[in-house]
Amino acid sequence: MGVGAKKLPRAPVAMESSRNVKTGSWRTYKPVLDKEKCTKCLTCWKYCPDVAIDIVDEYPVVNYDYCKGCGICSEECPKKCIKMIRQELE
Ligand code: SF4
Ligand code: SF4
Repeated sequence: MGVGAKKLPRAPVAMESSRNVKTGSWRTYKPVLDKEKCTKCLTCWKYCPDVAIDIVDEYPVVNYDYCKGCGICSEECPKKCIKMIRQELE
């Protein structure tokens, strides 16, 4: 059963400073979330070191302006519903 976002503590990293720097251009791999498998546990949100995951209607949504593609969310997701795919060269 999923835990509501309001019951979770704030992310353990510095939230304000992380959003000051857009790290999206660093990315070589991009997290893509399968919403069908997501249980809304928000583990990915808690672990993201760049605070690059927003919560929209209780679901995690990656903000690619800040996601640097570290893959921690994918590693930590208990349902393995975040895949890291090669970022297209632009
Ligand atoms: S960790 Fe996985 S199951 Fe939990 S909210 Fe994130 S994507 Fe969904
Ligand atoms: S790959 Fe996941 S954990 Fe890493 S910055 Fe992007 S959203 Fe955050």
